[in-house]
Amino acid sequence: MCKLCESSLPILSRRSMMAGAAALLTASALPHSTRAEEKAAAQNAIPPAEALERLMQGNARYAANTPNERDFSAERAARAQAQFPVAAIVSCSDSRVVPDLVFDQSPGDLFVVRLAGNIVDDDVYASLEYAVMVLNAPLVFIMGHTSCGAVEAAIKVVKDRVELPGHLPGLIAAIEPAVIAAHARHPSDLLAAAIEENVLHGMKEMRKDSKIIAEAFDAKRIDIAGGVYDIATGKVNLLQS
Ligand SMILES: [Zn+2]
Repeated sequence: MCKLCESSLPILSRRSMMAGAAALLTASALPHSTRAEEKAAAQNAIPPAEALERLMQGNARYAANTPNERDFSAERAARAQAQFPVAAIVSCSDSRVVPDLVFDQSPGDLFVVRLAGNIVDDDVYASLEYAVMVLNAPLVFIMGHTSCGAVEAAIKVVKDRVELPGHLPGLIAAIEPAVIAAHARHPSDLLAAAIEENVLHGMKEMRKDSKIIAEAFDAKRIDIAGGVYDIATGKVNLLQS
């Protein structure tokens, strides 16, 4: 069937397309032995705890301003063949928050999804499911950050009933449950509490909303972790769910 004929069919959702692509890739044309060897040699064929340790060690180097030296051209040919990310990261779009730098990792190491407020929605789940199911990333990490403008906006909407323009209300609505939960604890710093709650909320929600992620988590093939990046110090502080 040509593309013109396909265009008359009902449009597939992005998630169903991703699932189809995943099924295609998992049943890839590679001989089974070659796939197994490739996977065994993959840098991400490591336990989730080791992946988290690798991130935190990288963050310590970043915070101390002693990042690893990198030759970006050295492994370009290998990267053109495949990717084996050690973690899938959900991060805010804030220009001061750059996961690859924050965790001092190289191209091919992190599969990063960025949306203002590090929210998790259907398209984010689809990306994470691809990272977990197809790329075998052993860790999903949600990273909030201090001074998050998206969480600040959600606080203004919840507390002051501020009306936001354009498409912002839809995005900010995803953060409002975290603001309400944080406010109920009467914290001394509502913004800091809501930023943490927003990360924890995302970690909890993805196990409810994504069957693929929940099954991988229950089978201990992946871990779901989260933390808050402190823009002032450069450190990521892990949160306990
Ligand atoms: Zn932010």
